[in-house]
Amino acid sequence: MDYPMHIGGTRVTTSQPRPVELPYDGSEVAIVYQASTEHIDAAIAAAVAAAPVMGELTLDERSVILRKAHQKLLERREEMARAVASECGKPIREARLETERAAATLLFSSEEAHRLRGEVVPMDASPAGKGRWAMTIREPLGVIAAITPFNFPLNLAMHKIGPAIAAGNAVVHKPASTTPLSGILMAEIFADCGLPPGALNVITGSGGVVGDRLVFDPRVAMVTFTGSVEVGLRIRNLAGMKRVTLELGSNSAVIIEADADLEEAAQRTVAGGFAHSGQVCISVQRVYVQKSVREAFVERCVDLARKLTIGHPLEAGTEISSLITVGEAERVESWIGEAVGAGAKLVTGGTRRRATIEPAILTDVPPHVSLNCKEAFGPVIGINGYETLDEAIGLVNASEYGLQAGIYTRDIGKAFHAARRVHVGGFLINEVPQYRVDQMPYGGVKLSGTGREGPKYAVEEMTEPKLVCWKVS
Ligand code: NAP
Repeated sequence: MDYPMHIGGTRVTTSQPRPVELPYDGSEVAIVYQASTEHIDAAIAAAVAAAPVMGELTLDERSVILRKAHQKLLERREEMARAVASECGKPIREARLETERAAATLLFSSEEAHRLRGEVVPMDASPAGKGRWAMTIREPLGVIAAITPFNFPLNLAMHKIGPAIAAGNAVVHKPASTTPLSGILMAEIFADCGLPPGALNVITGSGGVVGDRLVFDPRVAMVTFTGSVEVGLRIRNLAGMKRVTLELGSNSAVIIEADADLEEAAQRTVAGGFAHSGQVCISVQRVYVQKSVREAFVERCVDLARKLTIGHPLEAGTEISSLITVGEAERVESWIGEAVGAGAKLVTGGTRRRATIEPAILTDVPPHVSLNCKEAFGPVIGINGYETLDEAIGLVNASEYGLQAGIYTRDIGKAFHAARRVHVGGFLINEVPQYRVDQMPYGGVKLSGTGREGPKYAVEEMTEPKLVCWKVS
């Protein structure tokens, strides 16, 4: 099936077709088209032309478009979920969940369009402000480049496109090369919902070519990026004066205190470490368990991990499917080997069949190995013991990343002691770090990025507060 690009309200194919493959077995699921530099220029030009049209839409007109897109997405939810599962290889039950969440992200964005406002500035708080009144109005930035990763190809794109529309901007969206289908389907949906032509352009092609041009082009006012640290840093360094938000990776950690509800903590750890085969930016990767309960906790996690059903992503019962490529699965396999070579114990899983890795649990993972200090982005959990809570907090903070972290304890004092000291963008009490609802502020510190998503927060990033001041007499 053909998936043309969307440029200026028109479907565009090129002389360079490229297959999109099901990661699980490599079978072809669709054809997309590689953008040339002319296509990228045309997409930016279309967005430049549409930006003033978007800026002139009333808040209610923007809100109505987003609400219609929310409804249309729900009407086409099964088709969309199958596209998501086919392009990124996640089990269909997770793809359905992602589709529901993407629809919710659009609804939250439509509500934010109604709430967009500036503030009154207390001018006469300065003696020189006597007789002056002032307010800020929030203006759209113009053209926003949205560059998205493979792991949540639909919802993470909606976290950029929804708020951009609510704020009155035009968008050029570049989805990941492996997962362009849901983004293209969304362009169709938005066109059916009355979004002006050129307000959402979707171009497909490699990050090095399309991404670099979008980041360099002076007509683009903002780059909103979700993806790896490596590419995020490159964008940051090349974007000059453009506004940039970066939602990057992590090696998220959770602390399990001895007084925790161990059964619930184990269930949530296994769910949070192995959903989408660990290819989630807040996947549970490092688990620190108080030594007196470590053995019981590991036993419970192993038992739960062994019950997970591995299979084809489009089969209803599948809980674990493949990683995005065979190369990524080989990398994860080699990191498990490195950890075991350095003294870690592989308690369960870790075997690879093509791009699929059996959920793996390791204990006694040395601090210097890749599985501990880098982002695994695979179905691997490392469980280590600790004596005191402050020791555990130190271990959580001994990371270059800081997206989300969590603690399980029944002691509210301990929970807030940790909440104050763990350096992350979001801290979860009695929940694993792999928890997100779409309206909450979401983003990281350290190498995990800059800026926050969640429609309310993204709308702030995507508008400029302009001061209007007048002298009364
Ligand atoms: P990636 O390799 O960094 O790619 C992300 C996007 O950037 C893709 O569209 C990619 O295009 C594009 N790109 C590549 N090179 C580029 C360049 N030079 N200039 C501009 N764009 C470029 O990341 P990924 O493997 O798709 O996704 C996994 C990463 O995303 C993980 O690190 C994960 O933690 C992170 N992530 C973070 C969050 C969050 O909210 N914090 C959420 C999800 C994922 P191509 O596909 O064509 O290369």
